[in-house]
Amino acid sequence: MEPIRLAIVGLGKIARDQHLPALMVNGDFALVATASADGASVVGVPAFDNIETLLASEMDLDAVAICTPPQIRGELARAALSHGLHVLLEKPPAASLSEAAWLVDLARSTGATIFAGWHSRFAAGVAPARAWLANRRILGASIVWREDVRTWHPGQDWIWRAGGFGVFDPGINALSIATHILPLPLVLIDAELEFPANREAPIAARLSLQDSTGAGIAVDLDWRQIGLQTWVIRIDTDAGLLELSEGGAKLTLPSESRQGKDGEYPALYARFAELVRNGESELDTDPLRLVADAFQRGRAIDTEPFFD
Ligand code: NAP
Repeated sequence: MEPIRLAIVGLGKIARDQHLPALMVNGDFALVATASADGASVVGVPAFDNIETLLASEMDLDAVAICTPPQIRGELARAALSHGLHVLLEKPPAASLSEAAWLVDLARSTGATIFAGWHSRFAAGVAPARAWLANRRILGASIVWREDVRTWHPGQDWIWRAGGFGVFDPGINALSIATHILPLPLVLIDAELEFPANREAPIAARLSLQDSTGAGIAVDLDWRQIGLQTWVIRIDTDAGLLELSEGGAKLTLPSESRQGKDGEYPALYARFAELVRNGESELDTDPLRLVADAFQRGRAIDTEPFFD
């Protein structure tokens, strides 16, 4: 089968850390170009400064992976879809729910694949956790996602601007797992968001979610964690406690514990290839909806200015 000819748009941290290595080991794709605003390039691969010049070059291309900050992702995806290209969207898939709906409609009208790459859903413990929870009664849950923003997002100004998501940039990964493994849909009941005085996006957030049986899920997101970093989901069920830790890589059940290898992005690209080959799309907005609800219903609290 011919490889899917793919270009990466936005050759920053995640493109280099994860997309390039995943593409190197996946025979379903050939990386044929990059387009990045900072002029970055990959040795031996044609490079463009923006998507307009890439598309105008009329090179043979089937798909793009959009790895830019989220504020511009919708516009870039629209340009690619309008050229009949398949699109992989880094998370979060769009800057707003209406933009995500707009992209789904456009993909449907062009017949192209659109895929929201919720990478954390491909962490090793997530699929077995989902299977184990499928027939359990959920009594309650907690999500603690606490990390040091200076370590993980040094100098990333976009993340602090409106539409950059702030602490929800990592937090939406936790929500992407929770909405995938919990058997019932979640609703946001209450939220509190802490905004540094000099920033447009929150540095911390506490959410109260509930499922339709009334089981509560407490979410604690914080970017001021020094030392040990915490990415843990605990779910109390009628059959005991399930814990997903290390961002979903480690699963602990009442009777066993398993530690998986880091294979999120290879699995993400395998899924993208499958969708393209089958002529299907997948863009789940549930995690994005909970974040939108938190911004809409949450109380904003001023906190001290943040400097990198
Ligand atoms: P980043 O390091 O700032 O990289 C973004 C890249 O996109 C930069 O090279 C930037 O160039 C380029 N860019 C910006 N606007 C562009 C445009 N209109 N056309 C083409 N290129 C453009 O950010 P990142 O950390 O890789 O994050 C990007 C996305 O990946 C975010 O949505 C994030 O949530 C997601 N993600 C990140 C991580 C992570 O560990 N960093 C993990 C998983 C997912 P300039 O610098 O010149 O603007």
